[in-house]
Amino acid sequence: MKEVNPYVLALKQLDRVAKKINLDPGIHEKLKYPKRALIVSIPVVMDDGRLEVFTGYRVQHNVDRGPSKGGIRFHPDVTLDHVKALAMWMTWKCAAMGLPYGGAKGGVTCDPRKMSRSEVEKLSRRYATEIAIVIGPDRDIPAPDVYTNPQIMGWMMDTYSMHVGHAVPGVVTGKPVEIGGAYGRVEATARGCLFTVGEALKCSGKELKGSTVVIQGYGNAGSISHRLAEEEGARVIAVSDSKGGILNSEGLSFSGVSAHKKETGSVVGFPGAHPLTNAELLELECDLLIPAALENQITADNAPRLKAGLIAEAANGPTTEEAGEILFKRKIPVIPDIIANAGGVVVSCFEWAQNLMGYFWTEDEVNKKLHDIMIPAFRNTYELAGQEGIDLRLAAYMLAVERVAAAVKIRGVYP
Ligand code: GLU
Repeated sequence: MKEVNPYVLALKQLDRVAKKINLDPGIHEKLKYPKRALIVSIPVVMDDGRLEVFTGYRVQHNVDRGPSKGGIRFHPDVTLDHVKALAMWMTWKCAAMGLPYGGAKGGVTCDPRKMSRSEVEKLSRRYATEIAIVIGPDRDIPAPDVYTNPQIMGWMMDTYSMHVGHAVPGVVTGKPVEIGGAYGRVEATARGCLFTVGEALKCSGKELKGSTVVIQGYGNAGSISHRLAEEEGARVIAVSDSKGGILNSEGLSFSGVSAHKKETGSVVGFPGAHPLTNAELLELECDLLIPAALENQITADNAPRLKAGLIAEAANGPTTEEAGEILFKRKIPVIPDIIANAGGVVVSCFEWAQNLMGYFWTEDEVNKKLHDIMIPAFRNTYELAGQEGIDLRLAAYMLAVERVAAAVKIRGVYP
């Protein structure tokens, strides 16, 4: 597969919307670059006594609408350009949702699947120490992303708190509820994604119940999308993880597949299912395809062969520009990442607000508030796309980039 630099993709997306909205060239220029990018070395004494040094990043793309917000990814493919793209996408995502945040992202180039729990803990704590000079509840607030989880957020919150000498729950979101995490945060990305899917299907007189669903990726977003889609009465016929995919046109049960993954480390080999590759999985006929893994999955190569009725991007940046154009021509709607997967950061915002005010909402309250943000965000995008005759991504970008540009203009350029 052709490697696409995600930062190049992010810049192309920005160019496209800039042209469409006649963005001021100075503001366009400002928005191309991150405000700040920190590169850190993270020495870790591994279990065998060897000292290994990892490279980590924290990139703050923009803070015009508020402190920057975005997850931390532990993955072998992490590069500075990856993190720069992901940080820019967070700026648009937070603006698209109307959250009082700018965008940031962090990452460490490592493979946590091959590390012990204690090595991951040391890596997380030392990384948190190294980026402590740029994060904080009123500056930049990390959260989970690919291969990071609530426990890792707990270690980071603890590390930051130990440095400043008092508990600072609002420095990180996606924490376990025992230390100030929000109820419903673990499910939020998938729940938000399915809210937008439900609304998109409703617009064409369909519903999730009885639909066939294919999911690429079985991390937080993918596996919980499986669970929630099944609860809604959909039939999930294929799922995958980094080792490969499985297909059963009768439907795959969430409890069965997740237990198998827990036991063996992969969905592959699940009894009664046919094996298939990730590439084959994307081309299956289905009512709904949820790419919930990494960037650059739907490209000009495979977009002409996709047979999904609707695509909801639970992953960040899974579709290239060229693929987006092909899908638009083929009338396959794509709910873009900055809308489809924004449920995570929306509930992160609730968690942060709860930490700052010291008062907590129930899971039902959280889910209702999430619904009340996701649905109008989707509807505004859908209506604008209809009025302008454009794809949902461009419409979402128009709404988001206009908001950021307005903030840049009001705040002005210092000094
Ligand atoms: N990593 C998630 C994302 O890409 C969540 C970020 C957050 O909650 O701050 O949106």
